[in-house]
Amino acid sequence: MTTAIYAGSFDPITKGHVSIIRSGLVAFDRIIVAVVINPNKKSLFTVEERMHMIKASVDADARVEVDGFEGLLADYARKQNVRVVLRGLRGVADFEYELQMANMNRNLNAEMETVFIMANDYFYVSSSLVKEAATLGGDVSNVVPEIVARKLRERLGR
Ligand code: ADP
Repeated sequence: MTTAIYAGSFDPITKGHVSIIRSGLVAFDRIIVAVVINPNKKSLFTVEERMHMIKASVDADARVEVDGFEGLLADYARKQNVRVVLRGLRGVADFEYELQMANMNRNLNAEMETVFIMANDYFYVSSSLVKEAATLGGDVSNVVPEIVARKLRERLGR
């Protein structure tokens, strides 16, 4: 059975993330969606809220596990006994950073490989842009799962 870890902030999960998970399931039997716990990074949603929204967005698919981790992804992967890290590539802007990360991670854990899946319909969507648009009163329901649209309205008092 092949497993990949899909790590990120997911603050909040978008349809772009969901499409990477769906594509990832074509290549892997199981995906662990791992929310990075970083107390120094300001977030709109708590780790628990983010994990809950991820679970709801993948319809509790048995092949998708949702977890949180603190510290290095390289250490987390080792602990989980997983050797593949899945990332989405939205465009050239992502490339430089991802190239650095993949190689740094390879240095930190020589057993680990990073696999990229090209973004598709939602290539222009990012969690930060979603938050910005929603904060300014924009309707983001086309680019985020239903539960996220609802939670954003609740959180932003609309
Ligand atoms: P991070 O803060 O670690 O970049 P994100 O939650 O923003 O975490 O993203 C996690 C992963 O999902 C990254 O590989 C990112 O490139 C990818 N990703 C984010 N948005 C999209 C999208 N719209 N389409 C495809 N991949 C995406």
